[in-house]
Amino acid sequence: MVLDNLGSALRSSMKKLVSKVLIDKKAVDEFIKDIQKALISADVDVKLVFELTKKIKDRILEDKSFSKKEQIIRIVYEELVSFLGTGSSISFKKKPYKILLVGLFGSGKTTTAGKLGLKIKKKGYKTCLLALDTYRAAAVKQLKQVGKGAGVTVYGSEKEKKAKKVVKDFKDDWAKFDVVIGDSAGRDALDKSLIKEVKDISKEFKPDEVLLVIPADIGQSARKQAEAFKEALKINGVIISKLDSTAKGGGALTACAVSGAPVKFVGVGEGVSDLESFKPENFVSRLLGMGDLETLLEKAREELDEDKMKEVGERFLSGKFNFLDLYEQLSAMGKLGSMSKLLSFIPGIGGMKLPMDKLNIQEENVKKFKVIMDSMTLAELEEPKTLNRSRIERLAKGSGTSVGDVRELIKQYNTMKNMMKKMQGGNLKKMMKKLGIKDMKALEDMASGMGLQ
Ligand code: GDP
Ligand code: MG
Repeated sequence: MVLDNLGSALRSSMKKLVSKVLIDKKAVDEFIKDIQKALISADVDVKLVFELTKKIKDRILEDKSFSKKEQIIRIVYEELVSFLGTGSSISFKKKPYKILLVGLFGSGKTTTAGKLGLKIKKKGYKTCLLALDTYRAAAVKQLKQVGKGAGVTVYGSEKEKKAKKVVKDFKDDWAKFDVVIGDSAGRDALDKSLIKEVKDISKEFKPDEVLLVIPADIGQSARKQAEAFKEALKINGVIISKLDSTAKGGGALTACAVSGAPVKFVGVGEGVSDLESFKPENFVSRLLGMGDLETLLEKAREELDEDKMKEVGERFLSGKFNFLDLYEQLSAMGKLGSMSKLLSFIPGIGGMKLPMDKLNIQEENVKKFKVIMDSMTLAELEEPKTLNRSRIERLAKGSGTSVGDVRELIKQYNTMKNMMKKMQGGNLKKMMKKLGIKDMKALEDMASGMGLQ
């Protein structure tokens, strides 16, 4: 696949996030760092990476339904898509529609001419190629070969030295086609002679569309190149070639987006059919493996495995317990049936007697409580103490519940928190101390040694 490294790094950071029990600020920070690393490794400009990830982070933290993993994935997807620009295709408004490919030596113009010819031909347009690289005799031969592979006609002369003359000499031929693609000569750099040559050809050929071919392996320097070409010549868009053969493609793609030259196609191999129309939505969803993520989310919703329960348990015992934890607790309860069943999963707590009768969490309350928590900001979820009267009123309004409901939630939260505290300061700790056990891990090891787990 194209941009393998970037894709798998992004996918694994999303998976890591999705499989977390609690998505708190720490998890978001870690996630953002992972994305930054992935993008920088793909040669995306560091400044752009920070701009993008700041947007993602701000949106995640601002989002009221913060605890919803789907929402986070959606935010990342949307921001990456808008980062890559709008993408755009060609519409053949007149006949013949003339496309001129320009670019430096070895950027992939000739190969791309064949690929583009085939793509357009497949759409039902009569297409031909015009060999305007009169710089090297071998160039015309190469285009003829490429044209043969694509099954499109190629016009050109191995003897003629002036590209302008080739345009003129074959005019009667190419003018009969729906689409004509001109393959021009490159240079080592964008110099005066290249600009003059393209302008000369353009006077005679009058292209409807000039497309710049840039190889992906130049990474973020694609921005300078695209800007320089845009300034010197009239460029309508970019084709990024060789996206399959470099880890730096992320840099080239994003560089073009910020240079304001829309990427229209990407070359993804040496074969004649290895050219794709560039659509940021499709590209990003493939890169992130959206299909896989959906499945993963579904699984995360259904499943509460033992590891997750341990994570919850450790947070219980560490004395940290906020609305995010409560949210997870309530979700877990829905799946497991009851609070005591849930607690039985937590190592060391299973056999303890808890004052469950103090908790009054009925099913309809669970739903209500979750809706209220969905309306909270991250700061409120993480720090329940911040809920004052006006915030409580806002939450009641925002969630379509009553002030009494919000107060009931806070009451239940406090009851649970106190319960945790008691457990912490009480039996379990004492027992651990007596047995000389310093941490949970040792307790678990011991339990399993005794055949209790
Ligand atoms: P030109 O000098 O701009 O006409 O470039 P060419 O079309 O001759 O291509 C230069 C080299 O890049 C050739 O070896 C092509 O096979 C190779 N190439 C072009 N496009 C791609 C692509 O999308 N992927 C890969 N892997 N190689 C490509
Ligand atoms: Mg060439």
